[in-house]
Amino acid sequence: MKILLLGGTTEASALARLLAGDDRFDALLSLAGRTRHPAAAALPTRVGGFGGVDGLTAYLMERRVDCLVDATHPYAAQISANAARASVAAGVPLLGLRRPAWPRLEGDLWQEVPDAKGAVAALGEQPRRVFLAMGRLELPAFAAAPQHHYLIRSVDPPGRLELPNTEVITARGPFEAAAEEALLRDHAIEVLVCKNSGGSATYGKIEAARKLRIPVIMLARPELPGVESVESAEAALAWLTAAHEALARRGV
Ligand code: NAP
Repeated sequence: MKILLLGGTTEASALARLLAGDDRFDALLSLAGRTRHPAAAALPTRVGGFGGVDGLTAYLMERRVDCLVDATHPYAAQISANAARASVAAGVPLLGLRRPAWPRLEGDLWQEVPDAKGAVAALGEQPRRVFLAMGRLELPAFAAAPQHHYLIRSVDPPGRLELPNTEVITARGPFEAAAEEALLRDHAIEVLVCKNSGGSATYGKIEAARKLRIPVIMLARPELPGVESVESAEAALAWLTAAHEALARRGV
């Protein structure tokens, strides 16, 4: 059974490992190409966009893909919307693999904002020491608030930023809570800006902020299309196994 796995997440990598070497499945992993040196993948991999809904639809049809799995990042709303529309247009079943958001726990000092611009507004006028742990794509928005000191962490260097007071750390998770606490203390961080990514790999900063009573400006999750979804790689494998059995029964 031919599978196109839209990836870029820990869950996609876990599903890739489950599918690799299983001769019921002929799976290809697709990455956006956002990181320069992506983690080694267990499956054959293609990199780069398809060219919108039409490009993805054509790709699914030309390669006779049987199932599409959308295991992209919860903030990658465009590709998820494209996947939902292309699945209908090409008549290819779609499964979402989506990690649940972190719930707000007692002691969490979260302020939710719609986007990076909202985060800039929430930081206020007074200079603060800010930890930006939200990837690098939305960083240019913070040029509107150059009065703050920014500690920026991203997988790849953020490139040139119009910000006078910055310190950059390039690192790839997982990040443990104890090390995150030390980082927040060492840099005298007063406020954290991040996304509600869910999962365990980047939860350490949330635990550390709760412990140190540091406020968190949380970028809201974007609206995603309502498609059939599971929350783990194992559940996705069960869904794909059932799809494979259904295809076999139909003699495809
Ligand atoms: P996006 O805005 O949903 O996607 C933009 C375009 O990138 C898509 O329309 C598609 O191009 C291409 N694309 C995205 N994922 C793809 C995949 N798996 N395979 C092939 N093409 C793909 O997503 P984004 O620009 O990657 O990121 C948006 C947000 O998600 C950011 O906030 C970012 O920090 C976060 N994020 C993304 C990733 C990731 O791996 N993508 C990882 C961590 C965080 P075409 O229309 O040409 O097909």
